Amino acid sequence: MADLAKVVTVLNNFAPPSLAESWDNVGLLVEPSPPHEVSRMLLTNDLTEGVLVEAVEKKANLILSYHPPIFVPLKRLTQSSWKERIAVRCLENRIAVYSPHTAYDALKGGVNDWLAAGLGVGQVEPLHTSVQPHPQGHVFVLEVCVDKPAAVALQGKLAALQQGEVTTQDVMAGSRGNCIKINMRCSQHALVQAVDCVNQTLGDKAATNLQVVKLEKPPLPGTGMGRLVTLDVPVTMSDLLSRVKTHLGLNHVRLGMGEGRTLEGSTVRSVALCAGSGGSVLKGVKADVYLTGEMSHHDILDAVAMGTSVILCEHSNTERGFLRVLQGQLTAMLDGKVEVMVSDVDKDPVEVV
Ligand SMILES: [Zn+2]
Repeated sequence: MADLAKVVTVLNNFAPPSLAESWDNVGLLVEPSPPHEVSRMLLTNDLTEGVLVEAVEKKANLILSYHPPIFVPLKRLTQSSWKERIAVRCLENRIAVYSPHTAYDALKGGVNDWLAAGLGVGQVEPLHTSVQPHPQGHVFVLEVCVDKPAAVALQGKLAALQQGEVTTQDVMAGSRGNCIKINMRCSQHALVQAVDCVNQTLGDKAATNLQVVKLEKPPLPGTGMGRLVTLDVPVTMSDLLSRVKTHLGLNHVRLGMGEGRTLEGSTVRSVALCAGSGGSVLKGVKADVYLTGEMSHHDILDAVAMGTSVILCEHSNTERGFLRVLQGQLTAMLDGKVEVMVSDVDKDPVEVV
């Protein structure tokens, strides 16, 4: 048994929510009143009402739902929609809900790397590499070179400007001869205010002196959206399809054959993949094959016209298998104090018949 706050810390350290896309809604989404001890955790790709029944039966105190069950803001918690009913029943049954979603997509060793692992031996790199987030959203550095009285005055005014959005170094830290360099860090939101403050305090001197530098954070190797797999040994399209079906446990997938390609006659060396819905992440990427869960008709037409074949496996079939890997990893990370289970009920709503 472990306290919910501790479990959430472990989960956030494993895949920082800052890795998620800005539009996403990740982290702890439903929190029963503390103290909340977690002895059983249920992993699911989607938290449906059926999965919730299973969670109650299995006496889970925490559900990790890969897709966030609460995404658009809820204005009420009634019985009129399935999302509201889920939130209500989770609280009634004292079940917390945590959702990692795109943080697991970006993660090195996460959902996309799991999907890539089924294709064969080769090089794997993100299609769009993540960068380290800026602390407190500080993305600009303003540098201005002034004498000491002006530096002290300016630092005082900047410090009073607003809470946490502008930080300044010690005025003497950047001292060089008669010039004291004030290094201010501020957010996009605070930039105009900070520049205005410099202009007002220093007058005309500021215009020639002030420099604004936009900070670039270093990339996080191996972390990011989508993956490009370059196989060491190229395979036929037919062999690649077999590998995908075996890895995902599927009898059928959908195939859009690239212009001029054939099942046995064309070799595949590069596969661009994106778990879930790959249209936007894969758009325009040069590869022999796109592998994803779903893509729009028009995105498929664009891909096959440039000779790229498209393999579609239905959305969550390209995501769900990672939960089995996660089950072992979380059990170890929580020192065996929490029984980690994978849902038996959770499945893709679409079936090829
Ligand atoms: Zn998805």
